Amino acid sequence: MRGAASSLLPLVLAAAGCSQRVTPFGPGHIVELDEEERRLWQTSMADSEAVKASGKLYRDAELEAYLNSVLDRLLGEHRKAYLPLRPRVYILDSPFVNAFALPHGDIYVHTGILGRIRNEAQLAMLLGHELTHGTHRHAHQHLEHAYASSGAAAYVSVLAALGGGNVQNLAAGLSQLMLVASMNGYSRDKERQADEVGLTLMAQAGYDPGEGRRMFERMKDAADSKDRGWNFYYSTHPKMSGRMESCAELVGRMSPELLAEAKDTGVDRYLNAALGLIHEEVERHIVQGKYKLATETLAFLAGARPQDAKTWAYRGDLCRARGEPGDQDQARRAYERALELNPREPVALRGLGLLYLRQGNNQDAVRYLQAYADEAGTAPDVPFIRQTIQRLKGE
Ligand SMILES: [Zn+2]
Repeated sequence: MRGAASSLLPLVLAAAGCSQRVTPFGPGHIVELDEEERRLWQTSMADSEAVKASGKLYRDAELEAYLNSVLDRLLGEHRKAYLPLRPRVYILDSPFVNAFALPHGDIYVHTGILGRIRNEAQLAMLLGHELTHGTHRHAHQHLEHAYASSGAAAYVSVLAALGGGNVQNLAAGLSQLMLVASMNGYSRDKERQADEVGLTLMAQAGYDPGEGRRMFERMKDAADSKDRGWNFYYSTHPKMSGRMESCAELVGRMSPELLAEAKDTGVDRYLNAALGLIHEEVERHIVQGKYKLATETLAFLAGARPQDAKTWAYRGDLCRARGEPGDQDQARRAYERALELNPREPVALRGLGLLYLRQGNNQDAVRYLQAYADEAGTAPDVPFIRQTIQRLKGE
């Protein structure tokens, strides 16, 4: 890591030398890349290709297209005016509450942060913020600042521990630039600018700018919980409460005409696109014992999607895993509700089977586990469930 770091140093120092205000990409400006920036983009494109080839992308073409449609809405009819910057969003399969932008326009959002977001307007704030790092050429301007406080090695080691050897190789192949962008964010004034421009972009696109503040509030909640290790995005960013205040301040300065038009939150559109991912995040939180996070998300989903069988099934899983007094009963009721809504809901069938197994009711355990195995087909735990069924039948 250190070796890679020092090889980038001349570039970093060169960038520091020309820190006058640079012209952003976008409508009304024609921007040509200079030699240094061209080199920066080459590095960042190579990094991006390595990430895409790593197997760590979250494979959901529809969700990815949806995220890019929200980005398009922020760019309006001006997409061409941002050239040579071609912003595009990709999803990284990782529990980190994180997102980052690379200089040439690729934006990476982690599944962990998408699982914390509650509507399309909050997503627009996140994407508007990252987009602004690209349009305002923050990497070109102030890489050195972020670089000075680099804790990239920690990020890489956690990523590697999560993903196995594949990711370790990937991390070794990435430049320091990528690590700085993904881990540290930029200097405080660049972050503020990204917040301000992002918030303005979302309001101009018709999104309720009040959701900008709420997006940070949600991230602050994540940062306050004992989950700190997962929350890279904000651990080194400017203090969350300060950012929330400046969001509110900026909304206060927006014109009444703009605010009258900017009312869209898009809860349903976000859930239509991201419900599967949010369920997976809930499952991940339950498995990791992060019951508070899972409870909060399930409460939100119960309000927004009261007829969703899988949400009830995960509520059952949460209670079964938590195991506090009364939880077994609650789990059973939640599973039964899920099966009323969808008699073939696999998470509920499995959960009920395992619950009966724990209670020593082998007959019902076999019945539900068999139904789960029939329903879930190729799920990775089906062979184990089948073994369990055989064992129970033999007893
Ligand atoms: Zn940022």
